Amino acid sequence: MSPDLHPPAESVVDRFLRYVRIDTQSREDQQTTPSTLTQWTLANLLAAELKQLGASEVTVSEHCMVYATVPSTLPNGARAPTVGFIAHVDTSPAVSGAGVTPVVHRDYRGGDIVLPGDTTQVITVAQHPVLADMIGDDIITTDGTTLLGSDDKAGVAAIMTLVDVLLRNPRLSHGRVRVAFTADEEIGTGIEKFDVPAFGADFAYTVDGSTLGEVSDETWSARLATVTFYGTSAHPGTAKGVMVNSVYAMADFLGRMPRDMLPETTEEREGFVHPYVGSLDVEQSTVKILMRDFDLSGLEAKENLLRRLARESQERRPGVMLRIEVRENYKNMKEVLGQHPNITQLALDAARRAGLTPYLKPIRGGTDGSRLTFRGLPCPNIFTGGHEFHSKLEFNSRRGLEKTAETLVHLVRMVAEQAGP
Ligand SMILES: [Zn+2]
Repeated sequence: MSPDLHPPAESVVDRFLRYVRIDTQSREDQQTTPSTLTQWTLANLLAAELKQLGASEVTVSEHCMVYATVPSTLPNGARAPTVGFIAHVDTSPAVSGAGVTPVVHRDYRGGDIVLPGDTTQVITVAQHPVLADMIGDDIITTDGTTLLGSDDKAGVAAIMTLVDVLLRNPRLSHGRVRVAFTADEEIGTGIEKFDVPAFGADFAYTVDGSTLGEVSDETWSARLATVTFYGTSAHPGTAKGVMVNSVYAMADFLGRMPRDMLPETTEEREGFVHPYVGSLDVEQSTVKILMRDFDLSGLEAKENLLRRLARESQERRPGVMLRIEVRENYKNMKEVLGQHPNITQLALDAARRAGLTPYLKPIRGGTDGSRLTFRGLPCPNIFTGGHEFHSKLEFNSRRGLEKTAETLVHLVRMVAEQAGP
């Protein structure tokens, strides 16, 4: 933290180590938000700690969303925009988040890291070249039996540390700061319950990224196609001339997916189509296909391609009927953030002031921020120092957490500086 400031009451590392021990795994296919009761434990704890730190307007919504305010310290009449910071409390349904036992590997000297609870789990230098930049750092891993939950308790700990630092340094000039901790980010349903008007920020940042310095103002534009072929069923013994088997139309269609346009063959800025689940039946064969692209024109082209391939497969199987439904999931937030470049620039400048080398990287996925951005809250994503999300090899480090928290403090100061005296 900057030398001119009182340090936080609790270090960001200690905070992080406390939060990751609390099971907050979310679960798919639940009708409620939060999807799991365990998320309340951390949400309620955070609300209590925010009050203890002296934050105001601390509330927990019926859907397990925590909101709080650090009031402006600017003299009466001086105005700065209200900036928000958002992290999610839940961890991925993919790997167990119960009984997380964080391990701190102090003063890392290089080499592969074998996790003590399951020695088949090894974080290798070959697969994680970022380790070379972490010599001398304290690396935080799991014991190898669970995920770490750095995604996104690193973001939670950094934002809590920001609040801690701001309230312990009342002379630090800043405008109104809003913070929020959300539920069910990992299953994509929580953010619908986020109250944008009540949050009342002019712009915000999700603190949910990875490598130090990495800022994102771009996500996929995403659509979901549901393609269904219909046939005619008949008793197989007397099916001649009657049965129309939709299974073959589906097989033909799937066999013609473009090989160079799949998740397993694309990277960086290349989009993809991804048939990922479906069912087969004589009368009805259905497949769901994810479409992803950074550009709307590219997404449009993928949708047109799928429609054409499906029609052609239908034509090859006389009697088969076809139905295609396309739903929009989310859009590339760059469409909006591109009109407000200063918001992303502030994050990059704050990271630089924290001694990092910031850069922009598009996210091959969606964030809560992409949805919030289109609901009127522009919301780029900031790094957390974490790596290997959703796996037993997930790790972060002391420097990762400290630099993330420090960047947030700089960012808040810079928003006030930019607003002028
Ligand atoms: Zn996350």
